[in-house]
Amino acid sequence: MIEIIPIPAFKDNYIWAIHSKGSRSIWIVDPGDALPVIRYLESHQLQLGGILVTHHHWDHAGGLPDLQERYPNTPIYGADPKQVPSITHPITEGDSISLSAWEGELAIQIMAIPGHTLDHTAYLLNDALFCGDTLFACGCGRIFEGTPSMMFHSLSKLKQLPAHTRIYCGHEYTLPNILFALKVDPQNVVLQQRYEKVHALRQTNACTLPSILSDEWLTNPFLRCDTIDVQSAVSAKTQHKMDDPLLTFAALREWKNQS
Ligand SMILES: [Zn+2]
Repeated sequence: MIEIIPIPAFKDNYIWAIHSKGSRSIWIVDPGDALPVIRYLESHQLQLGGILVTHHHWDHAGGLPDLQERYPNTPIYGADPKQVPSITHPITEGDSISLSAWEGELAIQIMAIPGHTLDHTAYLLNDALFCGDTLFACGCGRIFEGTPSMMFHSLSKLKQLPAHTRIYCGHEYTLPNILFALKVDPQNVVLQQRYEKVHALRQTNACTLPSILSDEWLTNPFLRCDTIDVQSAVSAKTQHKMDDPLLTFAALREWKNQS
């Protein structure tokens, strides 16, 4: 059985620890900071099996040099060793990483999802998706290096995964994302219910992740740019008739940037 544990870092990042029950090693996703990872390993008496990096931003990859120095033989997977020199195993879409040491011979599938950055990669382990800063719970990442079209297509790829896919993204942004989504989609009853649930969780600082893809289909406005509700909200905001999902997405992302 696989357990996935959030290790909080910085203000609102999550470093994810993947643990197969009975194994003495864990895999780590996006160690922006080495110290919380080292503390976690030591306090649980675990070894570091490998590291997955979704993209080159410092708050996702900044802990790598220290971890590499301390645990020198750890395999580090990521898309672009030019930007992240600690990567020992460069990967591209379609590759898979075998976790043969673990029960059931698990494999991690690689998906290229550019937009937030050009090297952005997602890792899929059974129904657990590690998608960094591309798809957030009820939102999506800013487009720093790619184009709106690139980001739209990356999100469309993730949207096509099975309904029960669990979304392990890189930040605790769920509540502010829902507040923005309510401006776009105020009549959405499922979104209103999600607000109540997430607001209660955040009252105690609890982690709101993972989210479930089927909930994102119903509440995340960035995955709903093909709906009349989101298109008419964006039309009203921009004073331009929006009936194309990609143009709606680009204008919605711009609206969020300004909000
Ligand atoms: Zn980022």
